[in-house]
Amino acid sequence: MSTSMELTAAAPAVPAVADNGVWLACIECDETFAPFAEIRYTCDHCDGLLEVRYADPPTFDDFEGQGVWRYAAALPFDEGVSLPEGDTPLHHVPRLEEEIGIKRLRVKHEGMNPTGAFKDRGMTVGVRVAQELGVGRLACASTGNTSAALAAYGARGGMETLVLLPAGKVASGKIAQAALHDARILEVDGNFDDCLDIVQELAMAGEVYLLNSLNPFRLEGQKTIGLEILEEFMTDHGTYPDRIILPVGNAGNTAALYKCFRELVQSGALDPADVPKLTGVQAEGAAPMVEAIEEGNETIRRWPDVETIATAIRIGNPVNAPKALPGIRATGGTAISVSDEEITDAHRALAGEGVGVEPASATSIAGLRKLRDHGVVGADEQVVCLTTGHLLKDPEAAFEAGNDPESVPDDAEAVLDHISE
Ligand SMILES: *Cc1c(COP(=O)(O)O)cnc(C)c1O
Ligand SMILES: [Zn+2]
Repeated sequence: MSTSMELTAAAPAVPAVADNGVWLACIECDETFAPFAEIRYTCDHCDGLLEVRYADPPTFDDFEGQGVWRYAAALPFDEGVSLPEGDTPLHHVPRLEEEIGIKRLRVKHEGMNPTGAFKDRGMTVGVRVAQELGVGRLACASTGNTSAALAAYGARGGMETLVLLPAGKVASGKIAQAALHDARILEVDGNFDDCLDIVQELAMAGEVYLLNSLNPFRLEGQKTIGLEILEEFMTDHGTYPDRIILPVGNAGNTAALYKCFRELVQSGALDPADVPKLTGVQAEGAAPMVEAIEEGNETIRRWPDVETIATAIRIGNPVNAPKALPGIRATGGTAISVSDEEITDAHRALAGEGVGVEPASATSIAGLRKLRDHGVVGADEQVVCLTTGHLLKDPEAAFEAGNDPESVPDDAEAVLDHISE
């Protein structure tokens, strides 16, 4: 394992540490900041991304209880506004495992969180931080799922919520959630990246508290996906998975999983040789991360025009790339893109195992298939694929990929005739 697995987490000499041994650090210049004294999303000095650091990184013995807050020892608080979230199933999918031809395949279905996507894990922590900061209005740009989670957790926490969505590009289930949980919904004539630019300006002007994954506290909650996978895989199989494959949009989850592993390595809880290979999958029409990995670039090139049926990852400027690219490289993982047709095939294949997901989620399985075909993933590998959102998020895509309803007369005999045709 390369040295980039290490976190420089000696507490800073300047007292930027909060009471609970937490501080913020710039990933580019290492400047440190007190976490809750004022609102800050990026480094004052170099504009770099911030990450949360701890005086005592967690070990597995520190964890107790259920859901995301089981992992309080890895989080900046002991509890938060909870619906509750986490504890999602790790499905066995025997037909897919055999068809793809690997030793072991498990599907971690994050669509089983309270609002139907993994965003809830980050939001429970992010809204707790918003309470600490005393802010009243929460906001995000979203391809849909962040807005649903923000609206629900904001409602539970008694806060006002504002969401910016790319007009006509958000699946209906997600807008329905944001609407009913009482978010103010602004539809922007632009794509997700444009929405994020605008909401960042509103945040910088102090109008709203930003809860996109640019907010480093969101990623803290999302680390718990990795903690659950490691604990459950070890309990069930006496080992850790060789590889975790996940859909990539803003690359927040990729960054969060990498951070989860680094903290465990740092505390001595995880052997660097046991760190799963982080493997990201994007849609062909929105694949700046894949491009950077394939070309060996340090930074991503922003794609101005993006298109895919996987609307949740229809993103051309993944803000967490500076955190995620090193994670893919340091763990020996890779990144691959898949076509909309390959996504739809995987969408159906998962449904055929009883696992109902939205299109973006199916990219992990589509990517695994392709990597296995190319011989990048070996037959002896144990793999966990992340499915990020629930089938009901995007009913239109499900209708499109699934069977058409058939009209029949109101008559049993005619129905019998019809089904025996
Ligand atoms: C947000 C989201 C993603 C992208 O996750 P990132 O952390 O931004 O890479 C993928 N799938 C679904 C369903 C999502 O809601
Ligand atoms: Zn900096």
